[in-house]
Amino acid sequence: MIDSFGRRINYLRISLTDRCNLRCRYCMPENGIEKFNHEDMLSLEELYAVIKIFVELGIDKIRFTGGEPLVRKGIVKLISQVSKLKGLKDITMTTNGILLKNYAKDLKEAGLNRVNISLDTLNEEKYRTITRGGNIRDVLEGIEAAKKVGLTPIKINTVLIGGFNDDEIEDLVNLTVEEEIDVRFIELMPVGEAASWAEDNFISNNIVLDKVKDLNPVAREDLSSPAIYFQLPNAKGKVGLINPISCKFCSNCNRLRLTSKGHLKLCLHSNREVDLKEALRNGQDIRELILKSVAEKEESHNLEKRQYIKRNMYQIGG
Ligand code: SAM
Ligand code: SF4
Repeated sequence: MIDSFGRRINYLRISLTDRCNLRCRYCMPENGIEKFNHEDMLSLEELYAVIKIFVELGIDKIRFTGGEPLVRKGIVKLISQVSKLKGLKDITMTTNGILLKNYAKDLKEAGLNRVNISLDTLNEEKYRTITRGGNIRDVLEGIEAAKKVGLTPIKINTVLIGGFNDDEIEDLVNLTVEEEIDVRFIELMPVGEAASWAEDNFISNNIVLDKVKDLNPVAREDLSSPAIYFQLPNAKGKVGLINPISCKFCSNCNRLRLTSKGHLKLCLHSNREVDLKEALRNGQDIRELILKSVAEKEESHNLEKRQYIKRNMYQIGG
């Protein structure tokens, strides 16, 4: 699929659920989310039907996310069905890693290629604080399990939070030295309920380069990736910087997003959504609707003008 700005759209990120087993301060309300009926979400059968159409239209890369994708029942079966679709080259997942040790082997066997694991600190107490109750040991065991079964190369996503983890930048960067692990620092995005918290605690990714002078730029392999990569001399892994605000990457955007309620989002930072679930249930031609929507994909976001979306990150999947 090519949109009206000549961008080739081949990447779909799917939020499988709004629910999560953590309550990260920048993402979830403390008491979790409002309960909603199962009929409000795409069923696994509906998800498969919609994904099949996307793949036929040229999507060759899918990332499952959430909420926490591993709390969605039936995820392994869905992945094993989706991995058999012709034309799909890469199936990945973004997870907080808490349940990964239980699922890593089954996910790999089902056809998942690799995982991105979110980890904002290496300190047990700080982890408990930022996630409002999570146990970092579960995540570390999840990372080991993912390595063991070959869900690699592993990428660690770290949201930079002023006054919280800026003192751990060197330690996180050093994770890339001995092993083929990429650590990616993500700037805090002002979305949903946490928008003002995010603005207050924002620090620019430039701090990573200020603190770690030995990082050398790495030639960009994938222009559509929002990360700009650097590497320490002789390190096995890389360090990525993802700067949605201080550095726009809209002109290379190749992605679409599907929320757990079956809404297609053409741009992460736009409030415009297309309800594929209703269309599917009403017997509309989904293929036509997707093509029409892609033709109307926004040219760019306007975060720098403080145009923030109302949805929360756990509803979209990042
Ligand atoms: N639960 C999974 C996880 O945490 O990896 C998947 C969903 S989570 C919404 C996806 C990613 O979005 C995580 O890496 C998380 O740190 C990031 N994220 C959530 N809220 C964010 C925000 N306000 N700004 C930047 N990144 C955010
Ligand atoms: Fe859950 Fe991921 Fe949001 Fe944390 S960032 S609350 S793990 S969805």
